[in-house]
Amino acid sequence: MAIEIDSLFILIGKTVIYGALALLILAVLGSLLIAYSFKTERFIFPNFMLFSITVLETIVKAIFRLVGVDDSIVDDVGIALKNKISIRKFRETPVNKRLIFLPQCLRAVDCPSKLSPDGMKCINCGHCEVGHAIKSAESIGYKVFIVPGSSFIKRLVRKHKPNAILGVGCITEIKAGLEMCEKLNLFGVGLVLDRAGCVSTTLNWDNFYEFIEFDDPNPNYL
Ligand code: SF4
Repeated sequence: MAIEIDSLFILIGKTVIYGALALLILAVLGSLLIAYSFKTERFIFPNFMLFSITVLETIVKAIFRLVGVDDSIVDDVGIALKNKISIRKFRETPVNKRLIFLPQCLRAVDCPSKLSPDGMKCINCGHCEVGHAIKSAESIGYKVFIVPGSSFIKRLVRKHKPNAILGVGCITEIKAGLEMCEKLNLFGVGLVLDRAGCVSTTLNWDNFYEFIEFDDPNPNYL
């Protein structure tokens, strides 16, 4: 009986070691592909890369840190890859079924907008680009919201039932937003801020206007 238990422990031990080794090999391969994609902006084996970025994220980031490379590359490539996967479906979605979420930090510091159940209500005072951007997007058919946090996004998604979402934000917000879209079966695309922070953040507005005005299925800035 004691020998059988010993054999069982040995089997479990071997399984754990081989499993960990297999995960490590997969993570190293995933890391190489992510680094290659970051350098060349080409995605090979996208499904495997997506697996590496989502399921093996912790190990992959640890490998990047171990070799002295900035692990934010993993997030950059993950967002670019998810954008690439969703963009065609996003473009096929009728524009009145698309929502745009802008972060409140993009507003001017002296913004006079007031908080409402639909987020900050821009009065297009002219102190920042947000007012003009909202006007342009709404004239095309988008619904646009300035949101102070993710709880607003969830509530507005429940209320307006979109099929596709364009989110603007910092890398962390875009990552969380794209994960939320995946869970809700929405086609999510993220535009990352040029400068993140709590106030006075900046966005490449040319890219924003190009995105909403032209249905380019393969924009080079995503
Ligand atoms: S344009 Fe809109 S968002 Fe910008 S400062 Fe004025 S009210 Fe605020």
